[in-house]
Amino acid sequence: MEIKIIRTNAPKAKPDQNSLGFGQHFTDHMFVMDYNLEKGWYNARIEPFGNLNLHPASTVFHYGAEIFEGMKAYRRPDGEVQLFRPEENMKRMNNSAERLSLPLLDEEFALEALKTFVNMEKDWVPSAPGTSLYLRPFLFGNDETLGVHTIHNAKFVIIASPVGAYYKEGLNPVKIMIETRDVRAVRGGTGYAKCGGNYAASMRAGDRAAAQGYSQVLWLDGVERKYIEEVGAMNVMFLINDTVVTPALTGSVLPGITRKSCIELLKEMNIKVEERLLSVDELSEAVKTGALKEAWGCGTAAVVSPIGELRMDDVKYQIADGGIGKLTQKLYDTLTSIQWGHAEDTHNWTCKV
Ligand SMILES: *Cc1c(COP(=O)(O)O)cnc(C)c1O
Repeated sequence: MEIKIIRTNAPKAKPDQNSLGFGQHFTDHMFVMDYNLEKGWYNARIEPFGNLNLHPASTVFHYGAEIFEGMKAYRRPDGEVQLFRPEENMKRMNNSAERLSLPLLDEEFALEALKTFVNMEKDWVPSAPGTSLYLRPFLFGNDETLGVHTIHNAKFVIIASPVGAYYKEGLNPVKIMIETRDVRAVRGGTGYAKCGGNYAASMRAGDRAAAQGYSQVLWLDGVERKYIEEVGAMNVMFLINDTVVTPALTGSVLPGITRKSCIELLKEMNIKVEERLLSVDELSEAVKTGALKEAWGCGTAAVVSPIGELRMDDVKYQIADGGIGKLTQKLYDTLTSIQWGHAEDTHNWTCKV
């Protein structure tokens, strides 16, 4: 399929690279493609960035038929722009689409569309340390009826936003608390899909934690309320003695690409990694005996986020003396140097656009 290109005749001024924030500025264009049950995907185009015109009965507004992805384009020291494992994002997008009965994408075409789009917006990829161009592909059901049935019409859109460094003054440990009231996902539900609805349902716990001075919640499984699943909207890892333990992908955990990359890097460092169930009781025991050495969250936005304090049953525990563990720092450094092209990419994870 051809991608029609309609250029803006009113390009915007680029924002100051030192105060970008997250998702506040948007580039000059967006990629849009439509879907219809009979026609399949059609009308692929890159057009000036602007509001979408949607029918008030559009499925997405009523039944939450929406999935998304989050990834970044990085400015290399040689000035070129690269993506990090983008084929993984497209694969995951299709897994999410399948779960929500949304139409599947041709992954190769979606990847080509993404690269064409990023190439067009190349000047928007910032170069200040830690900054990047955040890419947000999303797909939603767009039938103009309130009837509840399989999607007949959908849209796939990619927008891009230059974002600032997650940590302005180096890695910064966060405080987290175990969430005992709400659950994020259940097995058999949509936990493994990257869908907007999962986020809507997790805001309340996040707000409550923030009100008590915590930046994230540690989610427990929705069935037994016993096993650790994720931290905020990140995957989570614990260094217990000399083994890294991370919750297994049971269906209610989002299969993070950062998680996957961390596991691969850790194994190369000859560090034992266990993907398994980890109960609060086991974690609590490890905290009390001092077996828990480090803990961190991982995801595209922060890459690696050290956990300095954990609150359980109203008791606060310091992890890694409330600072940044050695392994946490090493993982962060290793991963970010590959992503920004400061180190050789021996894994073939990056691709230039
Ligand atoms: C996106 C996301 C992650 C992290 O995935 P990455 O591919 O590493 O960015 C983890 N948990 C949830 C709930 C997410 O939505």
